[in-house]
Amino acid sequence: MRIGTVIKLAKEYMPDLDDERLLEAYEFARDAHGDQKRNDGSPYIMHPLSTCAILLNYKVDEDTLITALLHDVPEDTNATIKDIEKHFGKKVAYLVQGVTKLSKVYYKHNMAERQIESLKRLFIHSAEDLRIILVKLADRLHNMRTLEFVSIPGKRLRISKETLEIYVPIANLLGIWEIKSEMEDLCFKYIYPTDYEKTRELVETSALQNDNILKSTVRKIQSVLKSKRIKAKIQARRKSLYSIFKKMLHTGKTFHDIYDLIALRIIVTNIDNCYRTLGIIHQTFRPKHKRIKDYIAVPKVNGYQSLHTTVFGIDGTITEFQIRTETMHLESEYGIAAHYFYDLSRSAAKDKETMPAIFSKHAEWAKKVLAIQKEVSSDYDFVASLKFDVFQDRIFSFTPKGDVIDLPFGANAIDFAYHIHTDVGDHAVSADVSGEYLPLSTQLKTGDTVKIITDPKAHPDREWLSIVKTSHARTKIKEYFKRQGSTKNYKAGLQLINSELAMFGYDKLKKPTSEVLQTIFEKFNVTNMKGLIVSVGDGTINVKNMIHGFYTDEELLGKPAVTDNITNKDLLSRHRMDRAMSIVLGNEELSEKAAYEALQIYRVNVSIDANDRVGMLRDIAMKLSRLGVNIYKVGVSNTPKKHVKKMLLKIEVYDLDHFDRAVRAIKSIKDVIRVYKDR
Ligand code: MN
Repeated sequence: MRIGTVIKLAKEYMPDLDDERLLEAYEFARDAHGDQKRNDGSPYIMHPLSTCAILLNYKVDEDTLITALLHDVPEDTNATIKDIEKHFGKKVAYLVQGVTKLSKVYYKHNMAERQIESLKRLFIHSAEDLRIILVKLADRLHNMRTLEFVSIPGKRLRISKETLEIYVPIANLLGIWEIKSEMEDLCFKYIYPTDYEKTRELVETSALQNDNILKSTVRKIQSVLKSKRIKAKIQARRKSLYSIFKKMLHTGKTFHDIYDLIALRIIVTNIDNCYRTLGIIHQTFRPKHKRIKDYIAVPKVNGYQSLHTTVFGIDGTITEFQIRTETMHLESEYGIAAHYFYDLSRSAAKDKETMPAIFSKHAEWAKKVLAIQKEVSSDYDFVASLKFDVFQDRIFSFTPKGDVIDLPFGANAIDFAYHIHTDVGDHAVSADVSGEYLPLSTQLKTGDTVKIITDPKAHPDREWLSIVKTSHARTKIKEYFKRQGSTKNYKAGLQLINSELAMFGYDKLKKPTSEVLQTIFEKFNVTNMKGLIVSVGDGTINVKNMIHGFYTDEELLGKPAVTDNITNKDLLSRHRMDRAMSIVLGNEELSEKAAYEALQIYRVNVSIDANDRVGMLRDIAMKLSRLGVNIYKVGVSNTPKKHVKKMLLKIEVYDLDHFDRAVRAIKSIKDVIRVYKDR
């Protein structure tokens, strides 16, 4: 796109645009970048110009367009923020500086740390001025579109991973679906090229086959809606390839099982007509059981509103419908940007009633992000909480009075209890979930009505710290144990440490040199051994992390096995690929092949005592395969107890954390009595 076209398109929605100012910004950036080139050999100015063009879709204001044009100037050229301020004013200078700061997040040989820094900066800035983050998203989208010209494979991977883990969630958080899905598909292409190609082919073939059915479905719906005098726009909907792939991966189902073959969107003028349309569709086609969702009455946590239904359409073809108003549509495509820049009152005056709800929903998020930041102490916790509290899918459960309790996916009754009140959490004993008495560790589902049974004498269990999903519950449980005093926590800490050591076949903690000990104390922010044990007891320090401070992976898991036959990438599990990728990310100079070769594998003997029953081995194998843990050898033997069998597994893990996840997964299986490492 040329600058002339950008100006023309901007003028269409912004008649009072100062086009000379925009042109001046373009010329300023072009001259500043001089003869710099992009990786594809084009003049550098094409990048800011493309960033600007992406933002036109969001009908952004003049300052945002100018910021997009100037966004790489302070970083890559001799011109400074001061120069920008002189020419384009304080506001633009502030926005450009914001974008520049976001770009200064360098990789520090430590994935977690980098993610945290970027996430924090991004959020803090987005809270200051949304326009900064919009420019940054458009900038990253254009960089992803041109990623093929980056020649170093490690760099391509790093950028794709970073985009998938940081930028996609932010676009999702802000509800900017268009940018999110395009970015996601581009990342998919670079991170899992083979799967990407396969998925793309499947989608294209099935789209071709279904073209006729699609057309007659649209005609049919058009005519029935017309006969009921409902004005509607009908659109065919494209699903992102990555979302299809993810669904196949998670559910283990095939493409044809999960892909809703025809997906249509119906946009009507008001909420009444949404419900009427739903009724009309159900009169025309038989609806599929349990696939009707009312996100108008109960919007998703990101503010999304629509009615969903899936029906047996023409020739029995599974057909999915989304029904929504124009406002809901703008909101879902453009997210927060819709509120910022669109004049919704003009474009869709009729369903204005939905606006305040959506507005407060977004404000709620921003607040949540800031609250998490205050609540959690370490950077690691911050990211973990964000991933769980904000990005994850949500479940909506109910109190007996019918109040909605909104929790992250995977949350259990303990999270629910602490959400109600700290006292309820601290004294919880069991849960009545939709009329059934269940343990507190029970994972909740959307629609569950939960009543927490309390007992004034009951108190939290240290085990809870490893099973709760919300940072709120975790914080409150830690506070409880802190209040118990150091004597009790010392005793409990010692017990936790000893049972963890026993798991690895040690009977007491190794005595390191005083130098090593000092490093451990510093790492955990304590001054002596007693403090360390107390912190384990009160939950501040995770016992596994503590043990890992004293021992190497090798001391706990044994010598790594020789990594043989890693020659064909396709034969590797996805987990192993992820693993190799993180090694490449840690050292961009390393070739992919070298990374695969650097992978270490530990073969660990694990004993499992379990009640004898049909399907036990299958359950274990399933859980382990989900974690990418290979079972190298397996044996079963009898024990003195008649109903108890001992299973001896040799499993392959990458490190202690991987091993730990494997053990926890096995422990969670019904009828498993004991799991321990065999020497
Ligand atoms: Mn840029």
